[in-house]
Amino acid sequence: MVILTEYLTALKPITARMKLLKTLHAEENAILHAKRDLSSCEIWVTHFPCPNCAAKIIQTGLRAVHSPKPNDDFLSRWGDKIKVSEDMFEQAGVKVDWMQVD
Ligand SMILES: [Zn+2]
Repeated sequence: MVILTEYLTALKPITARMKLLKTLHAEENAILHAKRDLSSCEIWVTHFPCPNCAAKIIQTGLRAVHSPKPNDDFLSRWGDKIKVSEDMFEQAGVKVDWMQVD
């Protein structure tokens, strides 16, 4: 995540929910800074995209997402959102490649 630190500093104390509203996720940041047509490109991520990022990936025309398989801890916290994103990618025809990372 890229945090708008100068803006957030002015809003302390900040809640986790507020922080989430005022941040860009890495996928959004990568898409914004690509400044080119991303149709048919692919994206590699360190964590599976949330539904908001999934929507941007789909709308940008990216054709595949390469992500490490989430561990049990990550799944217990984010499994519901991962399922939503997975469904979105399936419906949009975006390939999901679960990478085996040791
Ligand atoms: Zn996200």
